[in-house]
Amino acid sequence: MAAAELENFVGGQWSRPASLGLLDVPDPARGSVIARVPRSTGEEVDRAVAAARAAFPGWRDVPVAARARHVLALRELLESHADELARSVVRENGKTLDEARGSVRRGIEATEFAASAPTTMQGSFLEDVAAGVDTTLLRQPVGVVVGITPFNFPVMIPLWMAPLALVCGNTFVLKPSERVPSSAGLLTRLVEQAGFPAGTFNLVHGDAPTVDALLVHPGVDAISFVGSAPTARHVYTTAAAHGKRVQALAGAKNFLIVMPDADLARSVPAILSSAFGQSGERCLAGSVVLAVEPGGDRLVRALADGVRQLTVGPGDRSGTRVGPVIRPEHRDRILRWIADGERAGARIEARGTLPDGSEGFYVAPVLFDRVTPEMAIAQEEIFGPVLAVIRAPSLEAAIAVANRSRFGNAAAIFTRDGGAAREFTRRIEAGMLGINLGVPAPAAYFPFAGWKGSFYGDLHVTGQDGIDFYTRKKVVTSRWTPPP
Ligand code: NAD
Repeated sequence: MAAAELENFVGGQWSRPASLGLLDVPDPARGSVIARVPRSTGEEVDRAVAAARAAFPGWRDVPVAARARHVLALRELLESHADELARSVVRENGKTLDEARGSVRRGIEATEFAASAPTTMQGSFLEDVAAGVDTTLLRQPVGVVVGITPFNFPVMIPLWMAPLALVCGNTFVLKPSERVPSSAGLLTRLVEQAGFPAGTFNLVHGDAPTVDALLVHPGVDAISFVGSAPTARHVYTTAAAHGKRVQALAGAKNFLIVMPDADLARSVPAILSSAFGQSGERCLAGSVVLAVEPGGDRLVRALADGVRQLTVGPGDRSGTRVGPVIRPEHRDRILRWIADGERAGARIEARGTLPDGSEGFYVAPVLFDRVTPEMAIAQEEIFGPVLAVIRAPSLEAAIAVANRSRFGNAAAIFTRDGGAAREFTRRIEAGMLGINLGVPAPAAYFPFAGWKGSFYGDLHVTGQDGIDFYTRKKVVTSRWTPPP
């Protein structure tokens, strides 16, 4: 059967867009082509932005509680289609079914948070700022918001953005990753069923040229972006230069500090799951363990045992712990990083095994020991199932190594010592921290983003920062004199 050619959703209508051509979308577990995605042109971007602009005045006049009811309707549809969404994520992204289900759940939580807008969108009021003068702070929507999303969370990341932007009274254009476009199509069908008016939510498929057309479009007011560091920089600088509000979440290199007193029975599974879960293709993945001596040898032995037992295979096969990576080019890049680590003098302490005879894009998990902070494998984002161990003489030295990274997305410490955890929390330069857990993903009612080269902008996604990003503040100062 020929792979389905995907459509855009613009102004409440599905259609094949004017495109610069079609890209194949392979199933990473098998290599077979499962869909073909259009590379929408600038004219198609014009059409989507015009639809969103036209829908904006009517949608912003819908009372916030009614907008929230649309979001709640979407939430119910997400819940009843959660399995279908998760299976779509497995099919085009490659993660395991459990991982995909977890990611859909996080997307539903973000949608639930959005539904609380009648409370979270509230402004403030102060009586008598001067004699007879009062001040009111209002929040109003920004206008047309564009969401540009990466391949690694095809459902969750669009759901960080669209429900919150919409409930605040904005209209929305989603440009999903061209590597996982079918899940975005499924999500759009649910938005359509939830009864959002035509033009409030639009889906435009494409890759870099489509993004570039959105970044400079005069009809776009704000851009929410999640993706790699070079693209985030490009998106931030280009869109800001064109007068848009931008938040751009970028790449990562996350350090996990393991103190000699850590409870290894709990810490090792958490570290393995952080580093190798979702094949390491997660912005919160632990990538470097900083083993504080004298605990290093014991820790490396336990991690190596765990790595040898990781089952690599298709995400929809029960028992798989590590699925494929997204593309053959990405697999080859990861293999080059591994070769580079060996050449630089790091030691491969353990390697997992590949599934037999598969056409999928698999990488056997690798644990490196004796890595030094200067090595590229300790500094660059690999985004694959590779974990590097650096030995550190003290907590202070470990924090210094982590803080030298140009990234600062997440970091974690494993310890039984509250003083060490407190010192880590105070000194580490990263936006999302874990204490005795390896994937410190903030719940949707807290802000999500990193520091340093992991983030461009000031307001993070989700939580109250999300409300702030998707609204403009207006301050009204009024004087009323009492009736005579
Ligand atoms: P990517 O930068 O390749 O793509 C992200 C989006 O940008 C896609 O929609 C893509 O079409 C578009 N794009 C790609 N190249 C472009 C270009 N040259 N010009 C304009 N647009 C372009 O990212 P990816 O590989 O899909 O995602 C993985 C990356 O995302 C990793 O670096 C990961 O750390 C990061 N990420 C970060 C977070 C976070 O919260 N900080 C969360 C998830 C993923």
